[in-house]
Amino acid sequence: MAKKQFKAESKRLLDLMVNSIYTHREIFLREIISNASDAIDKLCYISLTDDKVGLNRDDFRIDVKVDKDARTITVSDNGVGMTAADMEQNLGVIAKSGSFQFKKDNDVASQENIDIIGQFGVGFYSAFMVASKVTVISKAYGSEEANVWESAGADGYTIKAGERSTWGTDIIMEIKEDTDEAEYSEYLDENVLNGIVKKYSDYVRWPIYMDVTRSEYVETDEVTETGAKKKEWRDYTVNEIVNSRIPIWQRPRSEVSEEECINFYKETFYDVDDPAAVIRVSAEGTVSYKALLFIPAKAPNDYYSKDFQAGLQLYSSSVMIMDHCDALLPDHFRFVRGVVESPDLSLNISRELLQHDRQLKIIATNIEKKIKAELIRLVEKDREKYEKFYSAFGLQLKYGILNTYGANKDQLQDLLMYYSAAKEKFITLKDYVEAMPEEQKYIYFAAGESLAALRDLPQIEPVRAKNYDILFMTDDIDDFLVRMLQVYNEKSFCSVSADDLGLETEDEKKKAEDTEEINRDLLDFVKEALEGKIAVCKISHKLVSRPVCLTTQGAVSLEMERYFASLPEAISGGQTVKAERVLELNSNHSAFAALQKAYATDKEKCAKYAKILYGQSLLAAGLGLDDTAEFTELVCGLMD
Ligand code: ADP
Repeated sequence: MAKKQFKAESKRLLDLMVNSIYTHREIFLREIISNASDAIDKLCYISLTDDKVGLNRDDFRIDVKVDKDARTITVSDNGVGMTAADMEQNLGVIAKSGSFQFKKDNDVASQENIDIIGQFGVGFYSAFMVASKVTVISKAYGSEEANVWESAGADGYTIKAGERSTWGTDIIMEIKEDTDEAEYSEYLDENVLNGIVKKYSDYVRWPIYMDVTRSEYVETDEVTETGAKKKEWRDYTVNEIVNSRIPIWQRPRSEVSEEECINFYKETFYDVDDPAAVIRVSAEGTVSYKALLFIPAKAPNDYYSKDFQAGLQLYSSSVMIMDHCDALLPDHFRFVRGVVESPDLSLNISRELLQHDRQLKIIATNIEKKIKAELIRLVEKDREKYEKFYSAFGLQLKYGILNTYGANKDQLQDLLMYYSAAKEKFITLKDYVEAMPEEQKYIYFAAGESLAALRDLPQIEPVRAKNYDILFMTDDIDDFLVRMLQVYNEKSFCSVSADDLGLETEDEKKKAEDTEEINRDLLDFVKEALEGKIAVCKISHKLVSRPVCLTTQGAVSLEMERYFASLPEAISGGQTVKAERVLELNSNHSAFAALQKAYATDKEKCAKYAKILYGQSLLAAGLGLDDTAEFTELVCGLMD
């Protein structure tokens, strides 16, 4: 029979696996057993609604058998099995699993240290780390025929018809001969194999049967001098369940270490990093459930793409009913990974109906509270960890508020963090408000492209001069977010670009108004000279050392204008949003004196000065010049 070739990327991984001097080869067994367990999960789920399966919960099992002479290890299950087409599809290509994608992205193949294999599920192929040949005999549920898939590694595989009495799968691994570097024979040792099952597969839900050798002290036919029967130790073999089967989330808290939970997380959810937090829940009451939840420390590569599948694994009475139950998590916490098990869920209803199940809703509400509480705990007790988490998922929290038009505000606002101009680090809104001097009216913020640009913004000067802190915001959506929040702890937000910052005393205001009155004609002239680019020109009562700044009046801010301008036309529909610009001049600055002088003596020059000042204000606001050539010419004109 013609050999079929593995798909290119499968071949690469196979090569990588087989040729690597890899020290954790033993994980192959975990992978093969985990596939067997998944296959049983599937058939067990079918059996809930399909009498034809004819198996009870207690009938499902996994068998691990060793044949020392033939040098084989066989893992059998009575799960859902595979058709020839399934084999082609599933064993001929590397599953589209996230783990392989990760490896590709990180180009693991080129690295010496490929320990990463141990941290990920690499699945079926890991068998080739220890086996020179792998044979899969499988009969799919509902099918009359069995098939045999066979491969000796990277050179390809064959599939042909075969025999198997019941539904399910046997994976037969022919163990490699020992080499100088590796002693493969140890896997044929019952005790070693038993230890590997215990180490990696102890909480597999289905019983794993193995032959175990025991010794007993038994009487022999020989009689001693005293007339009693002689006793001796004799070995015997029993086929027994070797895994404790209690899933990690079902075991009492005191029995499961944090480390075990973390290992479970890494193996189950394919993450190389420890999670930022582990949440264990054991709830009894209207609805009973157990949950083991993880807050990842980093966002997976595909997190902010549509490929990311959110949701928790949902079990009921040891049967996995859903791999990604998204109804269990609110959108703003969709980064959370984990497992939920409840005996109260009705197994017989469809997955679609389950999403609307009342019990499930209660669990979801409860889980949301637990996650929030854990995040708040990190904010208060482990700021460093929280900051790391926030840099990965802060944007998700912000969208959580935006997407619900502020409905989740109370739930999420305490989790937000912004860079503090005064403290030069990220702080929460609570930190900000607590540090506010009594007379400070507003929570000041500045929104812009980068911290560097914000530090340079003339508008921050007057606020900082009063010793008030400013929150620097650099995400596109921040400006909208603040509008949605409006207030935090009874304090309103105020953009440093706002017309009225509420900083000046009555006296200062009066003085600015008087100066404005005196210079009324000049200010109107500047507005005229700028030909409709600004709505108002006024004397600033807030600028300290800078000559000019651009602020806005009305509902649209400069940040919103910039945001809309950055949208692709397909989204914005070519529509632009313009802020009503206010050009503020610093009457104490020498530039203003020059402007006044030019107004009195040379109107044309004065108009040029107005344009230069406006250009400066645009640059400082990070908006870019309307006409770079004109601006350059104007500035050069000053040198004549
Ligand atoms: P993964 O388990 O991550 O999908 P694997 O390489 O381990 O990747 O397995 C590939 C696929 O082969 C599985 O998803 C499953 O569909 C199928 N498979 C593997 N082992 C079995 C088995 N014992 N019974 C039924 N199907 C199996």
